[in-house]
Amino acid sequence: MAALLEHTCSVCGSPHLEPFFTMSDVPIFCNILHSEQQEARNCPKGDIVLAFCPSCGFISNVAFDPAKLHYSQDYENSLHYSPRFREYINDLTQKLIERYDLRNKNIIEIGCGKGDFLVSLCELGNNRGIGFDPSYIPRAEHRHLGEKVKFIQDFYSEDYRDYQADLICCRHTLEHVANPADLLIPLRKAIGDRLNTVVFFEVPNAIDTFHRLAVWDILYEHCTYFVPSSLKQVFSECGFKITNLSEAFAGQFLCVEALPVAEKVTLGDRNFLLEESLLSATKERQLLPVGATSQATVLETSTLVTATRNRQVWTDSATYLLPETELNNVEEVESLHRDIQDFTNKFQSKIALWERKLTQIAQTKQRAVVWGAGAKGVTFLNLLKVRGAIEYIVDMNFRKHWKYVAGTGQQIVPPEFLQAYRPEVVIVMNPIYEEEIRQLVADLGLTCEVFSV
Ligand SMILES: [Zn+2]
Repeated sequence: MAALLEHTCSVCGSPHLEPFFTMSDVPIFCNILHSEQQEARNCPKGDIVLAFCPSCGFISNVAFDPAKLHYSQDYENSLHYSPRFREYINDLTQKLIERYDLRNKNIIEIGCGKGDFLVSLCELGNNRGIGFDPSYIPRAEHRHLGEKVKFIQDFYSEDYRDYQADLICCRHTLEHVANPADLLIPLRKAIGDRLNTVVFFEVPNAIDTFHRLAVWDILYEHCTYFVPSSLKQVFSECGFKITNLSEAFAGQFLCVEALPVAEKVTLGDRNFLLEESLLSATKERQLLPVGATSQATVLETSTLVTATRNRQVWTDSATYLLPETELNNVEEVESLHRDIQDFTNKFQSKIALWERKLTQIAQTKQRAVVWGAGAKGVTFLNLLKVRGAIEYIVDMNFRKHWKYVAGTGQQIVPPEFLQAYRPEVVIVMNPIYEEEIRQLVADLGLTCEVFSV
């Protein structure tokens, strides 16, 4: 753990990180498709060393090496083939359109993947959209959108500051960036003085992972893990005021709605206030002790941040104060601290339980498949080092079919494949999809045991 000495919390700057969980040799990419089984098994691997920051609750993989990640067009993580997921996206789209009157407006999506969410927002609200993602592949079904929705196969950066929008959204991308400020500060700079620009972010909920033990969400691509308190802090640090923060998708996600914070003093080029010195200032400053009362902590944070940044930007300390009902950061961080203390033991118990179940399946010669070749499914198979006991993994995304899972090498098959294969056991990777998968299995005329991990 010597390497930890070099690490400070990239949200609050604390040098006192506590390593609490290690996993070696995991696939770098869960969502890269492999055409050959051997190539899938020989995929690049990396180590995970999770460290907890007791000051702000931020969790990060301190063994993460960003140089190992090259997002290419082989990256496939669309979940839009599930009716349950589409329902969630439809609800979210409607909610954002209604709340922010997104009709005939401009929308940017950072990390838009294959563009499904952006297209929904644009079609439902007659909006214009620009999606940024190096893994975007031009799609025939997007052709009719013409100039209305454009895609740029690149990472979003300040170079694109000329593209302004009424809503900038970014779903399941922030957790792939080692230092969240590397995404949020360029974004804040790009927004400039358009203070009515609404920002919407969605990330996995670390409370679900570390408290409710959704352990299959720990993967190399996710180098950071957020709880509400660390999200509030990092958005504030980077010049945003959170207006709404909520759990979604049965508690699996956290959704943030935020607005850029106004500068108090206007000084010519207002962007100078957001210069690189901001990054170093936040890293160097002193930290708050854990255990102060919530109110005191928040007030002190505000004063401290203002003082240590030595700037006259967002000096209105009220911008750092969340409503009284949300002043539960210390309690939340302490609760998470308790969760991570014995997380390794709870994690190992969960792995041992599944090892017993898979052994039982193998001994009784039952044919079993895993359903869901997303990150959870790939992580499940790799953590349990499943080879012969399970040969196939089912997914509804046709772009994944007949490819192979990184690490363990199972082949990804469509649901219809099961009619010939006739499994006795279907292991569902995300309980939220269990109901729809049960129905699909019944529609395929199969009578087999279906259960969730
Ligand atoms: Zn921290």
